[in-house]
Amino acid sequence: ASLDALDREVPASKRVQDRRETPAPLPADRFEPTPDSDPSLPGNQAWARGIRERARASTLGRDTIDANTVGDADELEARIRTALDAGPNWRELTGAERAAVLHRAGDELERRRAELMEVAAAEAGKTLDQSDPEVSEAVDFAHFYAELARGLDHVDGAEYDPSHLIVVTPPWNFPVAIPAGSTLAALASGASVIIKPAKQAARCGAVMVEALWAAGVPRDALQYVQFSDRDLGRALVADPAVDRVILTGGYETAERFRSFRPELQLLAETSGKNAIIVTPSADYDLAAKDVVQSAFGHAGQKCSASSLVILVGQAARSRRFREQLLDAVRSLEVGYPWDANAMMGPIIGPAEGKLLDGLTTLGEGERWAVEPRKLDDSGTLWSPGVRVGVRRGSEYHLVEYFGPILGVMTADTLEDAIELVNEIDYGLTSGLHSLDRDEIDRWQRSVQAGNLYVNRGITGAIVQRQPFGGWKKSVVGATTKAGGPNYLVGLGDWHSAPAVE
Ligand code: GLU
Repeated sequence: ASLDALDREVPASKRVQDRRETPAPLPADRFEPTPDSDPSLPGNQAWARGIRERARASTLGRDTIDANTVGDADELEARIRTALDAGPNWRELTGAERAAVLHRAGDELERRRAELMEVAAAEAGKTLDQSDPEVSEAVDFAHFYAELARGLDHVDGAEYDPSHLIVVTPPWNFPVAIPAGSTLAALASGASVIIKPAKQAARCGAVMVEALWAAGVPRDALQYVQFSDRDLGRALVADPAVDRVILTGGYETAERFRSFRPELQLLAETSGKNAIIVTPSADYDLAAKDVVQSAFGHAGQKCSASSLVILVGQAARSRRFREQLLDAVRSLEVGYPWDANAMMGPIIGPAEGKLLDGLTTLGEGERWAVEPRKLDDSGTLWSPGVRVGVRRGSEYHLVEYFGPILGVMTADTLEDAIELVNEIDYGLTSGLHSLDRDEIDRWQRSVQAGNLYVNRGITGAIVQRQPFGGWKKSVVGATTKAGGPNYLVGLGDWHSAPAVE
């Protein structure tokens, strides 16, 4: 049962975009990866080892944070003013001119792949199999939004008026790709940007922004901030000079932002409680691998993660499938990213609150098929848990826990399973493992989620191919999907152009 449970997610870059040219070589003190930098490939092991070793003592990004920590309201006001003053020069570039800068940004992110992986390991606990595709996603965002920027000046006789200032507040769980994607989209649309990465991933955001600056994005038009005082975050979001906020985070955070400023234009990708349904027609080997990868990749800390698997009919009774799934979970080696064997890394901070509850207590009728264990004193290293007997309408069925826990539910029919999914308030990703065309059609027609995946894991959406965004309480504000063709058009205002004589 030694499933290669966490085999890496599909590397996005190099596939989606025409790479045009090979990336510039890394500086001499860096191990050089082969063109496909997958850290698990034999040729890249020295390169991967180098990243892991540096991660232990990494200080990347610190200087940028020190230089950009805003201490009081006056300083914040000055930053906003600077961003606004920088606006005209940036937004009056043609789409094609902005595209050129953003393509360079993509190349620069690629060139700094090792550094980005180093800081993602050091600060956010990302194992290399997770951070490598994440950097690819950031690179893809750059090239994809660059091309969208070209088409933005005029569409069907309407004229596009960029936002003057967009604030980006990304999360810690994808500490490179989400800050990069949101920032690059806003820049591509012609806006000035102030980015305030999550505190837990402040350095990852800083290294990403440094890459964009190095590529020629003006420092005034793209400002990095951290705050020494939480109230400054509220002041920023509430400032009338801010046209839009791109948020990725919890649903409650989106509501809090709205409470600071009710008329705020928010583009928020929020929480998820996602499930994979497995029917008796499924390829069980594939299903076990995909469920484990989707549940425990990055220790389950993805909005897209599968924290539920719903077994239909005979699939619930199959001993073979059950053993396969549980063995795969037990075989996951947990460790820090600098441990070469680690397949699952730590959680972002000591488990507390809801997550600690989820790791230590069971609801009525539930039991642990694999009990999570705290592996060291830091409180961040936990082995994965599988709870069975999760009941309809229970806490675990409906609430997001955001950690390395998988709940198992059962249903008599596919339709019952779909109902269990649709009873959840969120609707971000959803999966089905079935080899029956009719089942796939029925599921696709009725399941309520933004991103649907058939016979595949439900994390790791690929830019352009799988635009990413939710439904129901997984989205607040604009509903356009990141990495999709319509994302930029929602970041500005449209006016009808005067009729041409
Ligand atoms: N885009 C990521 C994925 O498809 C999820 C992003 C998130 O966790 O917010 O896995």
